[in-house]
Amino acid sequence: MIHHERLRPPSHDYPADEWNIIEKRFHPEFLAQAETMLALGNGYVGMRGCPEEGGPNGENGTFINGFYEARPILYPEEAYGFAKTGQTILNITDSKIIKLFVDDEPFLLPTAHLRSYDRRLNMKSGTLDREILWETPAGKLVQITSRRLVSFVHRHVAAISYRVTILNAEAPVVISSEMVANESSARVNGQDPRQATVFAGRVLHPRASYASECRIVLCHATEKSRMTLTCASDHALQTACPYTYKSVLTEDFGQVVFTIEARPGCPIHLTKYMVYHTSQTASAEELCGRAEWTLDRAMHQGFQQQLAAQEQYMDDFWRRSDVRIRNTREDRIQLSTVETQQAIRFNLFHILQASARAEDAGVPAKGLTGQAYEGHYFWDTEIYLLPFLIYTFPRIARNLLAFRYKMLEQARVRARELGHRGAMFPWRTISGEEASAYYAAGTAQYHINADIMYALHKYVQATDDQQFLQDYGAEMLVETARLWLDLGFYSDRKGGKFCLNAVTGPDEYNTVVNNNAYTNLMARENLRYAAQTVESLRVTTPNVYNSLVHKTALELSEVEAWTRAAEYMYVPYDEKLRIVPQDDSFLDREPWDFQNTPRDHYPLLLFYHPLNIHRKQVIKQADVVLAMFLLGNEFSPEAKQRNFEFYDPLTTGDSSLSSCVEAIIATQIGDMDKAIRYGMAALLMDLADVGGNVKDGCHIASMGGTWMMFTYGFGGMRDYNGTLSFWPRRAPEDNAILRFPLTYRGKLMEVEIGLQTVTYELREGESLVIHHETEEIQLTREHPIAVRSVSGR
Ligand code: BGC
Repeated sequence: MIHHERLRPPSHDYPADEWNIIEKRFHPEFLAQAETMLALGNGYVGMRGCPEEGGPNGENGTFINGFYEARPILYPEEAYGFAKTGQTILNITDSKIIKLFVDDEPFLLPTAHLRSYDRRLNMKSGTLDREILWETPAGKLVQITSRRLVSFVHRHVAAISYRVTILNAEAPVVISSEMVANESSARVNGQDPRQATVFAGRVLHPRASYASECRIVLCHATEKSRMTLTCASDHALQTACPYTYKSVLTEDFGQVVFTIEARPGCPIHLTKYMVYHTSQTASAEELCGRAEWTLDRAMHQGFQQQLAAQEQYMDDFWRRSDVRIRNTREDRIQLSTVETQQAIRFNLFHILQASARAEDAGVPAKGLTGQAYEGHYFWDTEIYLLPFLIYTFPRIARNLLAFRYKMLEQARVRARELGHRGAMFPWRTISGEEASAYYAAGTAQYHINADIMYALHKYVQATDDQQFLQDYGAEMLVETARLWLDLGFYSDRKGGKFCLNAVTGPDEYNTVVNNNAYTNLMARENLRYAAQTVESLRVTTPNVYNSLVHKTALELSEVEAWTRAAEYMYVPYDEKLRIVPQDDSFLDREPWDFQNTPRDHYPLLLFYHPLNIHRKQVIKQADVVLAMFLLGNEFSPEAKQRNFEFYDPLTTGDSSLSSCVEAIIATQIGDMDKAIRYGMAALLMDLADVGGNVKDGCHIASMGGTWMMFTYGFGGMRDYNGTLSFWPRRAPEDNAILRFPLTYRGKLMEVEIGLQTVTYELREGESLVIHHETEEIQLTREHPIAVRSVSGR
């Protein structure tokens, strides 16, 4: 169902540009939205796109992935096994503030007379750039330019190059470079369950603070999660104007103030370097030491070198991932080619910012652009994000899977707590411990286990990284397969089939159901892959197999039991409707009264009690439809069509994880109108604030889904059973030409879907076998292969 309005900022103030997201005017009403959109990050540090002077609301949003505070989850009514510890990513020490005073008048965006204004997220350089001409009340023209980066190459480093020139007069200028911890929050704990918890009082407790010359170091620690954070900054000022400086320091605040006698036309150039180090084990002294040596190196390298490294990193990123589009039909999609390209890159760039250096951490649902969903890691990573990373930056994909492996022991403990064998991965977490306070839409989502294993399978098939499978994957497969076997049972009432009861599928509007089709299908996949992996290790690498048996106390009879459970897995089917029912009770429910649901009552979760939602036939997000995409080889095109046509009108899309998947299936069944409409919702989810909550952070899963929509959807890519094939489809009236690179088995290839032909090119590597539909194609370097015919034309 499509009921979203597009809420785009005015296009003359946010013009189309292939490589930049540009803000031509300061719009207080879009401030929070722009802070999200223009946020910078590298997967470790994230900084919201607040102006250098600080956000007018005093919320400057700086985050470290995985840096959280814990709190007890308080239930008015306790029950056994409820998650105990809430975890919230913290808004940490903000180091990016640079305040400017001319003639002792502060430069404040909301009140300043701006002769010109240009701020842009520069996706080619990986920077946030700003150019302003300010006319002070005394008529002085002040040119302010800045460039901010969060380094992809140096994980702990961020930097700002800040220039001020008074064009037409002399003036005393003060530049105050600041660092603030425990900023007071304007937010309150509200009704929206997606928002993060606001802690009362101080969360960061001072451990050290000192200054020397232009350097400030603040070190804090959390109380419950016992994490320590050091933030350090240093400065270099270059100018021919005379100046002095001094620093001011308290426990939560550091400031270096430069007082300059500015001369007309004489530039003042301040470079600020910011460094973050965090640890759960290192002492405050050690962490301060680390921060200082990183800072020394960053200062020594200088801004230009940091920038050059950033640009080189970005070049490489785009070479491996850029999805290019030409000749889009503006009349059909209401976006020009340039706007479409801009939106695609915006999505890809934010995925990179969320994941690039997420080493030893996951990817929060909002990346590092906001605190919503508490900075938690969900299945979003494995199902929505990993496909992009597997096919563009497999190393990052590996890091994320390795991070799941690190949680395995906690997952074993959690399974035991719930009386299960094997391992049960947390539905949402930072620390590895289950943090979902609403079990029905949280812990009950057992499918997370199968989602992680599905991503592992995809990763291994696309990279052939057998080592990872042997070292980590196999053990996770054993423990997740055990969980399914323990959870399910052979039901006489279902003809002796293997059933999984009391689970919640992806659709959180139907909770704690029996035989959620998505869960059963994905669990079957998990069981099969586990059995197949163990069997193959036993035959091919006995030493690896023996060590697996040793680590997991595995018995061969278990493997047989997994195979049998997979074989007998119950997959619901309704003979009359000839569809897969979402679960055992879904079709018995009363239809939701969509006609009389006001448009402003979406998402339903904010306007109706869960019971009123759960007893009706209404869906939050793609569920069976998602299974038809992920396990597409198990559904015929007719089955896809029938199921899509049944479920689509019932799906509210109240989760941003829905549109991209609906778009993919719509493409596969040739419903190009719907494909385009859903596709636009996914593509513009954040740029046009489709869900109305971009101010709280980017929707990273939908961003990953956007990539899938172009590759798996419009590009017709399929990667079942270790075969990479393409079945591109297009509407007869469509003119767009789509081009995208993929890394497969260590080789870089490029696909172009033209009007009548599809071209495959191998860019790096000697040779590669792929398929165009059923035809095998052997790609070699320098010999692009063009195949005539694009289905659907
Ligand atoms: C969705 C979940 C998702 C979570 C975080 C929820 O609204 O229903 O599927 O994992 O958001 O993105």
